Parts: sequence; structure tokens; C-alpha cells
Amino acid sequence: MTAAALDLEALIAAAADTIAAHADELTALDQAIGDGDHGVNMKRGLEAVRAEAGQSSIKALPDALKAIGTRLVMTVGGASGPLFGTLFVALGKELPGNPDRAAFVSAFGKAIEAVGARGKSQAGQKTMLDVLVPVQQALVSGKAGAEIAAVADAAAEATVPMKALRGRASFLGERSIGHMDPGARSTALLVRAIADHIGSIA
Ligand code: ADP
Ligand code: MG
Repeated sequence: MTAAALDLEALIAAAADTIAAHADELTALDQAIGDGDHGVNMKRGLEAVRAEAGQSSIKALPDALKAIGTRLVMTVGGASGPLFGTLFVALGKELPGNPDRAAFVSAFGKAIEAVGARGKSQAGQKTMLDVLVPVQQALVSGKAGAEIAAVADAAAEATVPMKALRGRASFLGERSIGHMDPGARSTALLVRAIADHIGSIA
């Protein structure tokens, strides 16, 4: 399968648009429990991926995902850049050339494990994994489209009462409680963009 079949160029545009539209919100979330750079980091990364969207969209999907992940590692920076990068690179490595839904769900699960290995982290620690893991579980249970986007939003909300145990926010200890994790929010935004896009071409 080429990325063209997925209309990857339009998908990248939708992802970059939502991150740009919410960059100030992501910055504010990171100002509350981090160093305030998450909005700028993500916007820089997604715009770099957007600049290469034409080249990405003519590749086989696994190769396109690896290229996107590598670009994210190089441009997002911070703690989140290598972690989002790992997610996409690992997804590209795990996906067969012509994935069906089951192959995608399995590869996504392995890619999330790679993020956890890289971050020495797991769900429950107030990070992007608190959205990725419930989304994966929802995919396994057969949910799709708008249901997946709703799971992602609820999962990001559910990070509010958590105490951060990984990343910069963990330095705040109890004071990290009461704020949404910025990486969980950006992950939910990306999940919604992807779910909406797949719904629109299905
Ligand atoms: P930095 O914390 O270096 O400033 P960002 O602000 O771009 O980087 O990203 C912060 C986000 O990265 C957090 O909100 C969290 O979701 C995610 N994150 C940080 N450390 C980890 C980790 N070890 N495992 C998973 N996610 C993490
Ligand atoms: Mg930060």
C-alpha cells in the first residue's frame, strides 16, 4: 500500500492544522506543569512533516511513517520529540506493506510498547501513554472513527487528576495534579485528526 491510498498528504495537513490551531493551548498546558515549549515544539515538528508531505505521500506507507518519525525526532525536540518519533518509526517498522485493520492494530500496539521502552514509562504516569494505551484498547475492542476520537479526548481529560511520574512535570510532584498533561492533549488532537480523516475517506 502506498501512502497515496490513504491520502497521506491530506492527513498530514489535517494533523498540522490542528496542532497549529491548538499550539497556544498546548503551550499554556506546558506552562502550568512544564517549561511552556510543547506548543512550539509540536508546531515546528508538524510543519516540518507538512513540508515533506508530497514526498511522503508517494512512498509505501511503512517507509512514509519511518520518514515522518525521523523528521519528528529531528524537529520537535524536548522529551516528546524522540517519543513521538519512536511511535511513528516503530509503526513503520512493524507494519506490513499492505496492512489490514488487524495488522494496523497489532503494529500500533508494538509501537506504543516502543514508546514505553524509550521513555521508561507506562500508562498511569500522566504522559502521552495515557492516551495512546486507551486508544489502542479501544481499537482492539472494535471501536472506530468518532468513538476513537472520543476515547482519546476522555483519556486526555483523565490525566487531570493524575500525579506526574515521568518527564518534567514529575518534578512538581503533587503540584502536577489538577492540570491536563500537554503530551496527552497533543496526542488526543492527533488521534482526532487521524480518525476524522480515515472516516472521511472510508
Ligand atoms: P519537555 O518536557 O522536554 O519540555 P515537551 O514539552 O515537548 O518536552 O513534551 C512534554 C510531554 O512529553 C509530556 O506532557 C508527556 O506527555 C511527554 N513525556 C515526557 N516524558 C515522557 C516519558 N518518559 N514517557 C512518555 N511521555 C513522556
Ligand atoms: Mg516542555
